[in-house]
Order: sequence, then C-alpha cells, then structure tokens
Amino acid sequence: MYKISNAIHGKKINSLSSRSSAVFNPATGEQIAKTPLSTVDEVNEAVASAKSVAKEWARTPPLKRAKFMFNFKYLLDKHSADIARELSREHGKTHEDALGEVTRGIEVVDFACGIPNLLKGEFSRNVGPSIDSYADRQPLGVVAGITPFNFPAMVPMWMYPIAVACGNTFILKPSERNPSAPMLCWELFQEAGFPEGVFNVIHGDKEAVDALLDHRDVKAISFVGSTPIAEYIYSRGTANGKRVQALGGAKNHMIIMPDADMDQAADALMGAGFGSAGERCMAISVAVPIGDATADALVEKLAPRVESLKIGPSTDEDAEMGPVITKAHQEKVKGYIDKGVAEGAKLVVDGRDFSLQGYEEGYFVGGTLFDNVTSNMTIYKEEIFGPVLSVLRAKDYGEAVKLINDHEYGNGTAIFTRDGDAAREFADDIEVGMVGINVPIPVPVAYHSFGGWKRSLFGDHSIYGPEGVHFYTRLKTVTTRWPKGIKEGATFAFPT
Ligand code: NAD
Repeated sequence: MYKISNAIHGKKINSLSSRSSAVFNPATGEQIAKTPLSTVDEVNEAVASAKSVAKEWARTPPLKRAKFMFNFKYLLDKHSADIARELSREHGKTHEDALGEVTRGIEVVDFACGIPNLLKGEFSRNVGPSIDSYADRQPLGVVAGITPFNFPAMVPMWMYPIAVACGNTFILKPSERNPSAPMLCWELFQEAGFPEGVFNVIHGDKEAVDALLDHRDVKAISFVGSTPIAEYIYSRGTANGKRVQALGGAKNHMIIMPDADMDQAADALMGAGFGSAGERCMAISVAVPIGDATADALVEKLAPRVESLKIGPSTDEDAEMGPVITKAHQEKVKGYIDKGVAEGAKLVVDGRDFSLQGYEEGYFVGGTLFDNVTSNMTIYKEEIFGPVLSVLRAKDYGEAVKLINDHEYGNGTAIFTRDGDAAREFADDIEVGMVGINVPIPVPVAYHSFGGWKRSLFGDHSIYGPEGVHFYTRLKTVTTRWPKGIKEGATFAFPT
C-alpha cells in the first residue's frame, strides 16, 4: 500500500493529519493507498507558499511563462501512457479511455502555451489631447481548484495550466479517491522548470476545502463536482468575496429523430452511455426517440449490444468499460435500478447481477437499459452516474425539447437527425450549454470553453479556453498623458 503526500513549495511533504481516506483499486476491491486529509494548518502552508511567489510570477514575462508551459507539454506527451496507467489503476476506466482523457488535458496545456497572444490588450491613441489609453488583463494572485474523481488528470488540467500561464499561483485539491495521476502531473510540472510554489497540491476533504474557501489570500476558486457541493462552494466562496466558477452534475439527453441513421445513433448511445461506466458529466443517460416506431427500432438495436458489453479491468485491452469508483457507488447505482423497476420503468437489460470471474470483489455493474421511462421517475430526475441508459419515448420533437428544457440540469445534449432545419432549430431552442448535432459527447475543444447551464454551472464563467483566461484575470485600464509643456491649470468639471 502506498502513501500519498502533499506537494508544497516544490517538495513532497507527508501530511501530519491523523485522518486519511482509503484509495481502492475498483477492479479488485483492494485498498491500495491512503490519501491524507490535510489539516487547516497544512492548507495555510500551501497558500503561504503560493502567495510568497505570486508577485514575482505575475511579473514574469508571459513569453517566459509559456516556455515553461512548452516544457510541461513535452513531458506530458512523453509520459501520457504512465499518467493513463496511474489513473486507471485508481479510477478503473480502460487504458484507451484514460489516454483519451490525458490527451484532452494536454490540449488545454497546448492552449495555455499561447498565453502571450491571449493576454494581448487593447490600445487607443489620442483618446484626448496627448492622452492614450490601454487596457489589459492581469492575474488575480493565489487561486485554487477543487476537482472530482471522474477525470483525475484532465479536469485539474482544465484549471492550473491556464491559471498559471495567466500569472497566478495555484493550489489544487484533487479528489481523495484517485490522487496519483494529479501528483504525477505535479512532478512533471516541477521538472518543466516552473519556480517552486507556483503550483501546490493539497489533499483533503471538506476541512481542507473550507479552509481554501475561507482563506482571504485565495482570490478565486474553480470547482468541478456534484451539484449540491458546487452550489455550496459557490455560496460560501462568493460570500467570502471570491470569484467562483462551480461546475456541477448533469442529465444529458439525446434526441433521435425518425430520419436519423439508426445504426449511427445506436453506436453513439453505446459509447456515450456506457463509456467510462457512465461516470462522465457528459455521458448520455437519457435517449429520447421521437415516435414509437423510432423507439422500437432503437431499443431493438441497443438491447443485444448492452447485453454483450465487454466489461473488465483497465488492464484488459478488449474491455469497453470498467467498474464504478467505490463499493458505495456500486450499491447506489444498483439501488437506482431497483427504484426504476419499482416506479414502473421496463427493465430491458439488467446489470445488477453482473460478476466478473477473478474479479468478484470489484465494483462492477453490468450495462443496464430501461425503456418506457417517464419524467416523474427518480431514475429520470436524478444523476445516476453509472452504466444505466434510460429510453424516454416522446411523441414529437416539441415534447422532447420541452422535456430537456424543463430538466434542472443543462450540461450537454445531442440530436441525431438528417434534417438540417430540425438541427438548427434545436441548437437555437435548447436550454443547455453544450449541444451536439450528430455528435453525442460535444465536449468543446481546448480553444473554446466548457460549461453547462442551469444547475450544471454556478457562476458567470465557463471553464478553460477564452473564458478560462477571463476567469483567471481582471481588467485594468490605464490612461496616460504626456502633455509636452501644456499648462491648463486646475479643472473642476468632469473630464471630457
Ligand atoms: P463530489 O462533489 O463528491 O466531489 C468533488 C470534490 O469536492 C472532491 O474534491 C471532494 O473532495 C470535494 N467535496 C466533496 N464533498 C465536499 C463537501 N461536503 N464540502 C467540500 N468539498 C467537498 O463529486 P465526485 O463524486 O468526485 O464527482 C462526480 C460528480 O462530478 C458528478 O456529479 C459529475 O456530474 C460531476 N462532474 C461535473 C463536471 C462538469 O464539468 N460539469 C465534470 C466532471 C464531473
């Protein structure tokens, strides 16, 4: 069993906390590590480290900051398979899926390498006689990020590369369930030559998070996780005068129009519903076929494929999905399936009794398919975050759109159709932040920004891309006058 340490001021430091949290290999159910649940003093130490170098780092030319970022990108590319292996061991996702996660994280680092260009300001000559004005965006100081278990490498990379490139110093509080991948990335970050204290990692739970939320030297908080915690982080952080972006949970629908290519739609639903065992905030968990004929055709295609999903540990190259994260989560997902049955949905494929030979203690749940789900059912209203796909039949396009717009979450959605008019109308009408047209998981690329609507995002900024640069900087406008000997005397009227 290995131990996880904090990373403060360029060094790995063992926490002195008496509390820790167990890390499991979800494929075997075996405890493999302990994450320290750091104390308030340890959080304060990390903030003090970040603060001690914040001014100098902010003054470091963006070009030089970008050079370190290029080194980091090179090291990440070189070690991407190692990072993927670390994260799969503690998360359970397949190696291929983990590599995809690391690649999407590195794309944000690529974006951050362009920071000199991204921070270019605006200049206006002669806004008045001999008066010029320029505006640019400056870093906030010490900022922090709190991240979930489901993308232990990528989601932190949505935050710290951009924050640091903008000239801030950063404290990461990763998920206590899979801390090794973010730690390996921290090591590569140090190797890239960044000064000590620019990026620190502190492990912990609510105690450490609250210490960050209440610390007056922390100027902004980025959070990604479940909606109740996102809402809490947003309220407490903003009440303390901080800038907060808090991304929450999701229930993503995919509309299948009668004219859609049914094979394409079924392929898309298999990947988006069951990839990563459904533990993605952009997973499709509700399929909405339009009309009974479409629904029947879709369920007929899906059922045998869900039944024959290849499920295995991350080390099995043929596996299409792995286990869920913990025993408690496995039970929670199975509990949702019980509830779906009790509330009257038709259970087409039941994954509750799935067991894998040699991995009987692993936290596996078999692929599960429900038909005839209705909008008042718990399995429709709540985020399950497991390999459970619900089919909710809508009579027409209007009913499907109303359903999506009425849902409390608004992270991602998709429509599968060959009708350009319907697709365009959908993109206009739908109250969801990220929309796919024949694309099931429309995660924006690194030079756009990621963010949901409604209770999937608290705050005014989406994450990474141009919105990330805005979130981690504030505008300063400077007006200069070099009057070459003109003496006007004192003026008391408002300057025009
Ligand atoms: P979580 O909310 O349980 O935990 C997220 C982070 O918050 C962790 O670092 C955790 O230690 C911390 N935390 C947990 N309880 C806390 C408390 N009471 N006070 C303060 N901090 C606390 O989420 P999770 O289970 O790790 O991740 C899954 C959730 O994340 C899902 O709901 C998923 O939809 C969501 N998610 C959203 C996005 C998005 O971009 N919208 C992306 C990934 C995951």
